[in-house]
Amino acid sequence: MEYFHSVTLNADRCKGCITCVKRCPTEAIRVKDGKATIIKERCIDCGECIRVCPHRAKKAVYDKLEMLQQFEYNIAMPAPALYGQFNNLDNVDYVLNGLLDLGFDDVFEVARAAELISECTRKRLSEPDCPKPLISTACPAIIRLIRVRFPKLIPHLLDLLAPVEIAAKLAQKEAMEKTGLPAEKIGIFFISPCPAKVTAVRQPLGCDTCAISGVLAISDIYRPLLSAMNKIKQPKPLSECGLTGISWSYTGGEATALLRTKYLAADGMENVIKILEEIEDEKLEDLDFVELGACVSGCVGGCLTIENPYIARTRVRQLRKYMPVSANRLKDYDLTYEDCKWTKEVEYDPVLQLDADLATAMKKMQETRQIEKDLPGVDCAACGSPSCRAFAEDVVAGTAKMSDCLLRLKNQLKDIIEK
Ligand code: SF4
Ligand code: SF4
Repeated sequence: MEYFHSVTLNADRCKGCITCVKRCPTEAIRVKDGKATIIKERCIDCGECIRVCPHRAKKAVYDKLEMLQQFEYNIAMPAPALYGQFNNLDNVDYVLNGLLDLGFDDVFEVARAAELISECTRKRLSEPDCPKPLISTACPAIIRLIRVRFPKLIPHLLDLLAPVEIAAKLAQKEAMEKTGLPAEKIGIFFISPCPAKVTAVRQPLGCDTCAISGVLAISDIYRPLLSAMNKIKQPKPLSECGLTGISWSYTGGEATALLRTKYLAADGMENVIKILEEIEDEKLEDLDFVELGACVSGCVGGCLTIENPYIARTRVRQLRKYMPVSANRLKDYDLTYEDCKWTKEVEYDPVLQLDADLATAMKKMQETRQIEKDLPGVDCAACGSPSCRAFAEDVVAGTAKMSDCLLRLKNQLKDIIEK
């Protein structure tokens, strides 16, 4: 299988400090010969390694504004997290008008589609076969984490397209009707807060194709956009979303729109993993809905944003007082609940298995356990693997040597000296 990853390594900057190795939730990073490497099958593009690398050696790949020149008509689709990046903003129309000044012909807020997905989720929750708890699929890094590490929870996933997918389809349809242009001449650009969403556009989850032409980073367009916004005297009214839609930008926003009390919202990879373990152990079956986000504070904390996530969240919450509760219903767009459902199943991705063949996997597990007995068990990661168990697996797989364990080597040297 071909993998695309937004998260990449700049090897020149990497000092091999192992900070990222210990924080990766899928044990996708190894340090070999003083440089980090990412095991592409395992990476879920959560961006944690970008956040923690003290040498800025990890970065996200995304598209550039120059890509607009490839199309005759361009639409900007801002993620609601974009609104939290600006100080003293009391009207999102400044942001939307600023995007037009950057060269876009039109804007379509992803928050509009988020309101449609909130409506669909309420319907899903009322269905008799709805799993308990239902797990949000708004964060693509969480879907990928469940696919590789918690396959038992796949049936709990909310089987609805992400708001950005729905927004792209609606924006494309509106633009084709307005301009008479064919789809290939219309550029649809998502302005993203995180690398997971960049990857999700290239490798969609729950559907085969995606109408989005490119993904720009909030951090990349922030300065030109701010400068365009500062020149606007009186913005044209463009916003068509309510507070329900923009609240999806921070933790708890999606869940509160469901009008239920039995929900849980958590963020940050460590917390998310603990919650998923609890659901796996069937300890949270009294909950209706669980909202999980890889980034602290939700999308406003994505590593392609500018502002501190807590400040950005406070700003979005303040913006809400100027907005209606919700401004979008399925019937306004001639859409049905079925139109928003996944068209493709999300499947288990067994990348953490020791081998595809069960007998071989069992044999490798025995060898791994045997090797582990000879290791110090302190999970120092100095060998370049995230834990002693992962190191033992790497030795069995032939990608590491016992002599890579520095503590073991030190003890052996000590014995030789004493002798
Ligand atoms: S955190 Fe990872 S990528 Fe950054 S310098 Fe250390 S080993 Fe290299
Ligand atoms: S993006 Fe996340 S999953 Fe991928 S290597 Fe970095 S920390 Fe690991």
